[in-house]
Amino acid sequence: MFEHIQAAPADPILGLNDAYRNDPNPHKINLGVGVYKDEQGNTPILKAVKQAEERLLAQEITKNYLSIEGAPAYRSAVQTLLFGKDHPIITKQLAQTAHTPGGTGALRVAAEFIKKHLPEATIWVSNPTWANHQSVFQSVGLEVGSYAYYNADNKSLDFEAVLASLSQVPEGDVVLFHGCCHNPTGIDPTPEQWYQLAKLCSKQGFLPLFDFAYQGFGQGLTEDAHGLRKFLEYVPEMLIASSFSKNFGLYNERVGALTILCETAEQAETTFTQIKRCIRTNYSNPPSHGSAVVAEILNDAELYALWESELKAMRTRIHEMRSLFVNTLRAKGVSQDFSFISHQQGMFSFSGLTPDQVAQLRKEYGIYIVGSGRISVAGMTHDNMGPLCDAIAAILK
Ligand code: PLP
Repeated sequence: MFEHIQAAPADPILGLNDAYRNDPNPHKINLGVGVYKDEQGNTPILKAVKQAEERLLAQEITKNYLSIEGAPAYRSAVQTLLFGKDHPIITKQLAQTAHTPGGTGALRVAAEFIKKHLPEATIWVSNPTWANHQSVFQSVGLEVGSYAYYNADNKSLDFEAVLASLSQVPEGDVVLFHGCCHNPTGIDPTPEQWYQLAKLCSKQGFLPLFDFAYQGFGQGLTEDAHGLRKFLEYVPEMLIASSFSKNFGLYNERVGALTILCETAEQAETTFTQIKRCIRTNYSNPPSHGSAVVAEILNDAELYALWESELKAMRTRIHEMRSLFVNTLRAKGVSQDFSFISHQQGMFSFSGLTPDQVAQLRKEYGIYIVGSGRISVAGMTHDNMGPLCDAIAAILK
């Protein structure tokens, strides 16, 4: 039965991680996968998470199933983080949230929901976008289109082209926006551009799907929600896929959420029954631990303050690494302009390195970068910066 089956291609990002792990080079550097590293190159458990876990361990009395949509304390905490405390969407119960296994789980449930209930819709993703978007949507049979986003010549957002592409998207289609810290380019719309996008969405009548995987990694929790909250002023219906893998460092606990926003509370309740149906036939109900940790932190003032300070430390370290990278390359005599990297947001930057240069860095120096030239800035440290920039200077000569 299985003889005809061919091997699937390696995942472009997780496959790179495997290759890194198997590389015996003691000086290897991993700038591939989007995982935060501290100055020592570790991916630590946040103190707020540890403290929340200690409390939970002492209090936990059952391993009974969660409901299909997850725990109420978690679901409401997610909405507060997205919309802001006491936002009318919350008080009027216009949104419903389900706990999903990670942001990927949220996207997958959203994809199934769209395919089932908006079967004619095409989903539009930015060019470029996170490598998994296309596959997740195609795996349920959705048509995926792409809208212009990045100008490789001047390494910036081509906003005129974004508007021109999205003006062609018909009513009833779905458009995916990265809530902040666009992956892979690190370039987000400005507040003025978000305003224009929200107005365009309202005029065109497409459904926005916000992929919000890095809240707090750009400028701050509130600042990073600016685009989403601007859309709330203009658009009554929306899907939001949240991930808490990065901002809580809970990568392997698989904590995410899918939120649906509707025009009325009744509509939200009714539509949510269909989302729950997608979940029931997929993984039935979510895993408990990670969401209990997130709820414990978000619903406790002391833990919240600790978490926010740890999130700020991660964000600040990444911004510092961006500047240090640009300055070190300059100090090593690299004449190519990399200054754009210090203005970008979140873990990633499009470096402008070509596939050949990326391959050379891997083969000759044990430096792992995604083939597109996407660099995870979070993998840089004071210790690896010198060797990294020496290698880049050498291959650019
Ligand atoms: N969306 C984007 C843009 C991402 O970069 C990622 C993870 O890298 C995800 C979604 C998925 O997050 P999770 O690991 O929580 O599934």
